[in-house]
Amino acid sequence: MTKTSSQGSARSESPLDTALSQLRRAIDQLQLSENDWNTLSTPRRVLEVAVPLRRDDGRVEMYKGYRVQYSTTRGPSKGGVRFHQDIDLDETVALAMLMTWKCALTNLPYGGAKGGVAVNPKTLSLTENERLTRRYTSEILPIIGPERDIPAPDVGTDERNMAWMMDTYSVNAGYSVPGVVTGKPIVLGGSLGRTSATGDGVAIAVREALRMKGIDPHGATVAVQGFGKVGYWAALAMENMGLKVVAVSDVNAGVTGFSNVSSVFEYANAHGSVVGAPGTENISNEELLGLDVDVLVPAALADAITESTAPKIRAKIVVEGANAPTTPAGDEIMNDKGILVVPDILANSGGVIVSYFEWVQDKQNYFWSASEVKENLNSILMRSITEVSERAASQQVTWREAANMIGVGRVAQAHRLRGLYP
Ligand code: NAD
Repeated sequence: MTKTSSQGSARSESPLDTALSQLRRAIDQLQLSENDWNTLSTPRRVLEVAVPLRRDDGRVEMYKGYRVQYSTTRGPSKGGVRFHQDIDLDETVALAMLMTWKCALTNLPYGGAKGGVAVNPKTLSLTENERLTRRYTSEILPIIGPERDIPAPDVGTDERNMAWMMDTYSVNAGYSVPGVVTGKPIVLGGSLGRTSATGDGVAIAVREALRMKGIDPHGATVAVQGFGKVGYWAALAMENMGLKVVAVSDVNAGVTGFSNVSSVFEYANAHGSVVGAPGTENISNEELLGLDVDVLVPAALADAITESTAPKIRAKIVVEGANAPTTPAGDEIMNDKGILVVPDILANSGGVIVSYFEWVQDKQNYFWSASEVKENLNSILMRSITEVSERAASQQVTWREAANMIGVGRVAQAHRLRGLYP
């Protein structure tokens, strides 16, 4: 069903180049105008801030922080906060753009955003992390809010950071504003099922991709790169569906030979890495990508599947848990090999879907059961998967192209209907 995409002419492999070349392709395939390209290729609001941090020993250090509101056309902007030493403005813009198409593809009433601080959170004590999170929040405070822009956890942040963000915003407002962030602890207005939502969604995408390839999920094999909030929960959910998780990895390296995902998780929690889990053998992250498995799930960072790693992939299906894990060159190679690639904006949309449920529950002060969350997640994701697979089949394009066409098309249509002010 897939037809190789030329993916534009970008030679560089930066996430922003990748995102822009995918947007260009969608604009061309949808036969949209240059006016559409001009509006859709430009972020609406970009904020760069200095985030001073007083370390526990009294030193003061400065970090760069960002918040990019790529689009607010379909509703308030929405997107994660990343704490990672390598983030910069270009990557943040790229990730905010992906959030825009993701929210439109899943038909959530949001635009897209992303933010973060260029810091390695592993170098911070708990109190330093709290001070940095609160100062970053206060720097971006004028542009966030439940009706403006709603942050959530991403790489290097978790529900604890969201609690501090919610508290900082609320103290300034003078009353509790739980809806300003999602991914909060349950007792502060978080949603049941949010912690595992992205991984649960990845597992649903894997299940459906296997079904379309005629492979029985029971006993199908899968390798997962990245064992954080997405990778771990995806691995666990896939194991519960009957798949055999044969390898997992983190930033240090990967392991194979474990009996179940939980045993590796317990070891990683206690020792800070999956490497060394009892009864396992080590493999490199690159070897993991080349394992002879049915499904490969990249769930770490951008640019994992490139011109040099894609030729080694032997999986029949790649389901992108991470955002932008594939470069245009890597994508083209996988398409040529006939690999079914379930793109990030579809595969990892479970996180923002349940974040949306959390925001709705906070607005209504009425909280759902875990089974309601799961049922609604499944139904929104299944609707999107069906739309993408049908579009790909009817227009003879890849799933990535189909997903981008749907997402970009919806934002373009919303722009047209709202008109241009003044
Ligand atoms: P996380 O910080 O919880 O985990 C990241 C994992 O990747 C860790 O295990 C880390 O060791 C590993 N890792 C980092 N660099 C690596 C490398 N070079 N090679 C192999 N592994 C490496 O982050 P997360 O929230 O799980 O996010 C992972 C990806 O999923 C990111 O691209 C993120 O944007 C995307 N995503 C996250 C969510 C969410 O709800 N958390 C939702 C959608 C998409």
